[in-house]
Formats: sequence, structure tokens, C-alpha cells
Amino acid sequence: MQTYLVGGAVRDELLGLEVEDRDWVVVGATPQQMLARGFTQVGSDFPVFLHPKTHEEYALARTERKQGHGYHGFSVYSAPDVTLEEDLLRRDLTINAMARSEQGELTDPFNGKKDLESRELRHVSEAFKEDPLRILRTARFAARFQPLGFRVCTETMTLMHTMVTDGEVEHLVPERVWQEIQRALHENTPCTFFQVLRDCGALDVLIPELASEADFHAAMNALNCVHANDGSAAERYAALLGRLDERTCVARSKAMKAPNDCQQLARLAAAFTPVIKQLDPVQPSAGTLLELLEKSDVWRRPERFSQLIQVLGCSLDPVDRQLLEALEKAVVAASDVDPQTLIKQGFSGKELGEAIRTERLARIAQAASWSPT
Ligand code: ATP
Ligand code: MG
Repeated sequence: MQTYLVGGAVRDELLGLEVEDRDWVVVGATPQQMLARGFTQVGSDFPVFLHPKTHEEYALARTERKQGHGYHGFSVYSAPDVTLEEDLLRRDLTINAMARSEQGELTDPFNGKKDLESRELRHVSEAFKEDPLRILRTARFAARFQPLGFRVCTETMTLMHTMVTDGEVEHLVPERVWQEIQRALHENTPCTFFQVLRDCGALDVLIPELASEADFHAAMNALNCVHANDGSAAERYAALLGRLDERTCVARSKAMKAPNDCQQLARLAAAFTPVIKQLDPVQPSAGTLLELLEKSDVWRRPERFSQLIQVLGCSLDPVDRQLLEALEKAVVAASDVDPQTLIKQGFSGKELGEAIRTERLARIAQAASWSPT
């Protein structure tokens, strides 16, 4: 039995990057032998085990064959006669298909080291097209390694384009797509991820609303800005979709099964944008400002409101950004209204709600007449 370090750990070590998680492949062993050595089996589909002490993943060498569409259409073959090279052949990119033995020797049948040096993301074999998730992974590695000068090589871009044309991307389940998008939003240059997807045509399938040149560039500018501010996942997501109209944004978020906080923030950004565009920057309407604040539920969700301001500060056209100051002044002004005072004055129930609103409106009107800078 031989154990090899594989995948990202070998790649990152050669790039001189810190290695965070290590994956291992074991050649010449059976599941029974692994269990006897104290490993625990995880996952029922693949023979993958956890080391008793380090808890790192050890997978038995395996081959995969595609059968039908989608992720369930794989038949996995694992046995002690599967070689290291056969296991490496099923991997996505050449830079991810290298192994290092315990003695330190590098196995690199697909010239991953050369591609690392020439900064190219290249598919290992034609079998790449058997799993459309690899398109998203490739785009994500492009977004991670863009600052090091990596790019998707022409052959791989062509193959990805063919996969999209063949309808492969439509077979991806939303959960797996979301997992990649969410990771990509936090890579070194998140926009590269979407640019690669756009170049191969996958973006037209995954987020068709960003298909036009103008919409795409506006979304990328907003995302870049939130990224530069080190924004949260929800802020990044809202920057991406916040310029769509509200209904389209809601429908896309649902289809993508984005988490609730992402969906809600994107929806608010989408709802606010056209209203803000209509506001008069010199004398914004107090009623509209209050409606926006109510819609955002700012008094119960102050943190989400500041996230929203961050997103809009990145996604609005520069001329409309000055309105954010009016909105923030309106929050401060309206927050001065103390319901307790009104209760003491005898208001209750529905009347109390109305009195609070009237009072807030008056204070916002006063504050909004300050001319924004
Ligand atoms: P990261 O630094 O993000 O962990 P990684 O390269 O280690 O990057 P993992 O998702 O941890 O990526 O997967 C480990 C290895 O398994 C990859 O390097 C690659 O060789 C292989 N792999 C993972 N997913 C796929 C896939 N969908 N198709 C082909 N090979 C894959
Ligand atoms: Mg890994």
C-alpha cells in the first residue's frame, strides 16, 4: 500500500502558498485494510476515509465513468489494482492532478508543473466534459489565481464552450452551483469567476439576467467595490444582483437557492435602486424616504440596513449615491421618535402606530431639507 499527497496541497506547495487542507490517495489497499488501521469511512458513494489522528481525507484510488446526465450518473470503480495515474486521470485540471509520495517524489503524468509555471488552467483529459461542475471550478481557480497571472487555456475554454452548447450546465443542481458561487464570491478576484463563465457561455444559463454587456459591467463594478471593502457574502451577492428589477431578482435568488440573508439583501437593493433614482437630490420626499426605511425594517434590522447602504454605495450610479446621505440622515431623525413618550400621551394600538409614523415623517421632513453634500 502506498500513500500520496494529491490535488490542491501539491499545487499550492509548488506555488509557494500555505497549504491549508491536505487530501491523500491510497493505492493498493482495500476498505477492510483501512478500517483495520483505525480509519473511519465517510461517504457511502466513494471509498473515502478519515485518518484516526489528523482527520485528513484519505481516498482509495478510483476511476470514474460517466453514465447519463447529472452528478448521479457516475459509476465509480475502486480496487487495489487502480493505479495512481488512473486516479489522477479523473481529475479536473492538470495543476490539480499531481501527487507527491511519502518519499517526496512528484508524480505528474499530465505536466501540471509545466502548466503551473506557464500559469495555465488546462483540463486533464476529454473526460472533463463529463462533469459540468468543473466549469465552475475552473472559473473559481481562475478567480483565485488571477493575481498570479493564471488564465484558462484556449483548449479548455473551447471545451467548456462545447459543454455549454451541449446543454450540460442545465443539469447542475442549484445546491452545487450555489456552493461554487458562494466560494467564488470570496476568491481573490471574484469578477474573474463571472468573466470566465461569461466567456464560455455558462453565465447565460446560470444568471441570464447579466447577459447584456451593460448589465454585466455594472454588476462587476459593484461586486469589485464590495470586494474591495471586504464585504460579507450577502453584500457581495446583493452587489451582483441588486441592479435587477425586484421581481427578477427575487425569482433568480429563489432559483439559485441562495441563503435567506443573501436573498433579502439583494431584494432590498433591487427595491431601493429605482426609488432612489427617482428622488430629488436637493429636496427628497420625506414620505418616500420613510417608506424606504419601513421597507428595510431598519429599526428591527439595523445591521442589515448598514449592509444595504454599503451595497448601494457600490451599486448605484455615482449621481444617485448622494441620496444615501439623505437616507442615513432620515434614519437618525426618525429614530429620535420615542414610542414611550407617545404612549404616555395616551396613544395605543393602531393609533400609536399612526402617531409614530406621523412623528417620524415630520422629523424626516425637517432633516431632509438639509441640503445633501
Ligand atoms: P482547494 O484549495 O479549494 O481545496 P483543491 O484543488 O484541493 O482546492 P478540492 O475541492 O479540495 O480542491 O478537491 C481536491 C482534488 O480533487 C482537486 O485538486 C482535484 O484533483 C479533485 N477534484 C475535486 N472535485 C473535482 C471534480 N468535480 N472533478 C474532477 N476532479 C475534482
Ligand atoms: Mg482541497
